[in-house]
Amino acid sequence: MLLYDLDLPTLTDTLKQWNEPAYRAKQIWQGLYQHLYNSPDQFTNLPNTLRIRLAENFNFSPLKSKLYLDSSDGQTRKTLFELHDGQVIEAVLMRYGPEEAEPDPRHSSHVTRHSSRRTLCISTQAGCAMGCVFCATGQMGFKRHLSSGEIVAQVMVYARMLREENLSVTNIVFMGMGEPFHNYDNTMAAVDRVNDPDGYNFGARRMTISTVGLVPQIKRFADEKRQVNLAISLHAADDDERLAIMPVNKRYRIDEVIEACRYYVDKTHRRVTFEWALINGVNDSPEVARKLAARLKGLLCHVNAIPLNPTTGYSGKATDRQRAAKFKETLEQAGVPCTIRMKRGIDIAAGCGQLAGVAASL
Ligand code: SAH
Ligand code: SF4
Repeated sequence: MLLYDLDLPTLTDTLKQWNEPAYRAKQIWQGLYQHLYNSPDQFTNLPNTLRIRLAENFNFSPLKSKLYLDSSDGQTRKTLFELHDGQVIEAVLMRYGPEEAEPDPRHSSHVTRHSSRRTLCISTQAGCAMGCVFCATGQMGFKRHLSSGEIVAQVMVYARMLREENLSVTNIVFMGMGEPFHNYDNTMAAVDRVNDPDGYNFGARRMTISTVGLVPQIKRFADEKRQVNLAISLHAADDDERLAIMPVNKRYRIDEVIEACRYYVDKTHRRVTFEWALINGVNDSPEVARKLAARLKGLLCHVNAIPLNPTTGYSGKATDRQRAAKFKETLEQAGVPCTIRMKRGIDIAAGCGQLAGVAASL
């Protein structure tokens, strides 16, 4: 059992069964999430007997870092982690300096923020069952769900790494390998633990969950009213076209997905982001932009478009800069704010949809 898998009440119960005082649970929690300890001998505030018992019963460090890859500009680091059963996942840190501020999804496209950010992109599953044709993770198929602790542990590894530079993670996006809403309970347990003031105490508004568009889970997420941002991978404005690249569209059509987003905005008053991988000649024409704008009419939303990243299993090509600008302009003229996101970490296959490249080749 991973220590990171436990929530505070469960850990408190365990300690009670061991006849330990209740405050010990809080001490362990503080050690894990505030001091970022990851081995039993670091818990010097605990009696030795308890440390030994914890070590016998729990795994403190569930992720083995197999490989780091740094992009040539030094701003992106991908880590390949091996899990206890040999499965591999990836997590990516992207640094944005003040001069290169990442477009803020909550503001209109030309507003950039003048502070540096360190955005961590984490995985929720090994592989993915959704089979989007343009995505390396989809191309490798589904291996298994991650436990909440395996999701949390990715954050803690990078928090530890950044602490050496006196820095911390500023944003977390659930956009690595896997579909977070297919592993709903574990993902939300991880979100809540990272957010917990007694845990890592990381602001919910600085987290973003991206989903392929699983309608019941979007509604459930809306009902649960977390302050976490929601992003939906849409990529097409027409059902046949979406179905050709995203098998999930067989289960949930575009209008159902957008309807669920309207429900989310009504419930939470929060803006939804739609993600759009721009594929040359497939979903990047002004006509498509107009069709999309019509679908999104009246919805509090924003489109985040990114020229397609290459993957071995898909022959589609990225839209060029000019066509991307035209797509954005057409959407905005029709009243839908749009940002063209810059590519990051392409040279180490750490861009959106490229994760699992290394994992697959092992
Ligand atoms: N499963 C979730 C989150 C992980 S994918 C989801 O699909 O939303 C993160 C984002 O990368 C999604 O918007 C996904 O559609 C996008 N993506 C996948 N493959 C891509 C590629 N080759 N180029 C650009 N974006 C891609
Ligand atoms: Fe899975 Fe998201 Fe990739 Fe689709 S884009 S296969 S949902 S990880």
